[in-house]
Amino acid sequence: MSYVRYLQCRLCGQTYEAKPLAACESCWAPLEVVYDYGRIWSDLRREEIAQRPANLWRYRELLPLEEDPQVGLHTGFTPLVSASRLARALGIREVYLKNDSVNHPTLSFKDRVVAVALNKAREFGFDVVGCSSTGNLANAVAAQAAAGGFKAFIFIPADLEAEKIIGTLVYGATLVKIEGNYDQVNRLCSEIAQKYNWGIVNVNLRSYYAEGSKTVGYEVAEQLGWRLPENIVVPMAGGALITKIRKAFDELQKLGWVEQAAPRFFGAQASGCSPITTAAKAGTSEIVPQKPKTIVKSLAIGNPSDGYFASEAIRASGGAGEDVTDEEVVEGIQLLAETEGIFAETAGGVTVAVARKLIRDGRLNSNESVVLVITGNGLKTIAAVSGAVRESETIRPKLADFEDVFLGSPTEATA
Ligand SMILES: *Cc1c(COP(=O)(O)O)cnc(C)c1O
Ligand SMILES: [Zn+2]
Repeated sequence: MSYVRYLQCRLCGQTYEAKPLAACESCWAPLEVVYDYGRIWSDLRREEIAQRPANLWRYRELLPLEEDPQVGLHTGFTPLVSASRLARALGIREVYLKNDSVNHPTLSFKDRVVAVALNKAREFGFDVVGCSSTGNLANAVAAQAAAGGFKAFIFIPADLEAEKIIGTLVYGATLVKIEGNYDQVNRLCSEIAQKYNWGIVNVNLRSYYAEGSKTVGYEVAEQLGWRLPENIVVPMAGGALITKIRKAFDELQKLGWVEQAAPRFFGAQASGCSPITTAAKAGTSEIVPQKPKTIVKSLAIGNPSDGYFASEAIRASGGAGEDVTDEEVVEGIQLLAETEGIFAETAGGVTVAVARKLIRDGRLNSNESVVLVITGNGLKTIAAVSGAVRESETIRPKLADFEDVFLGSPTEATA
């Protein structure tokens, strides 16, 4: 029932049967799922998609499942919000927010990739799944594994936010906290995937998992009325999301579902972990690994596995990579919340703050429109803003106290 032809190495082009495989066996580059677009084109019209339920499976022909999905049935099709107050604050004609801070079930874009990966895990016969994670992936794997009846092992750096740790444990997953950064956690996870017959979503299920990110691109295009955006700002950790949104836009053009267009990709990182934007700024795709030091833990991958391709996507599109300080991240979170009523996590603060910087510098054209991809929910990174929000006073339960403290004085208030 699937339209998958094979897996193909992004670098050397070698093809593989669609099996659980971590990377190309000769050059270790990521493997890309290749579809039979001719058959999709003749079998499916975009009008048919519009009739389907509002979740990511409305694009199932472009996803690598052989059977009907069993888990993650309500994930995806998050709102695309027209954000005129934020646009005015940023000084640009039009802003749209792709709001994955309300994705089902764990409030981040990672629910998409996990929905695809766990269905694939079931097809391959894995009973145990797992991941290495900077937080949101841990939440998504733990929740969807619980709902799908899998046993889950989750590997994280020990210093993650409390919300992300509790938001993993509550689902009954086995959480392995590791003294080390994400890159060290990921290395251990690869060893474990090799030794045990487990489905590790971002190791041996990676090529399927990453396909879930394409649905952000399909949804943005569909929600814009089957049109590609002029500009899009995407936060980057490993660099898969931005690469896959590019693939989604390419596929939609190939299928003739959108007009040919040349959207510019802007990649966003925190300055304290900016291997991809550093490369993009230097005009190269060669990534020099960094040791992360930032409050933006969800994006803190110092040696990003799709970094090369992310930088390439940015540069080929005529966009740019940019990064912002932790202070600017907090301002970005507050600006988004105060103008649009959306509370994003630190990665969302990165996206908004990078957009602001690009618009100020004239690198994002103020006469154009831009889509900002908001990937996670602010309730998961409370500490980032707890020192920045205005303190409120506690009063006695008396009208006079309220007027004194909050309205200045009683006479003024009634005058
Ligand atoms: C994982 C993550 C990203 C980036 O994903 P990559 O595909 O690794 O670049 C962005 N935002 C949030 C909140 C994430 O958790
Ligand atoms: Zn290869």
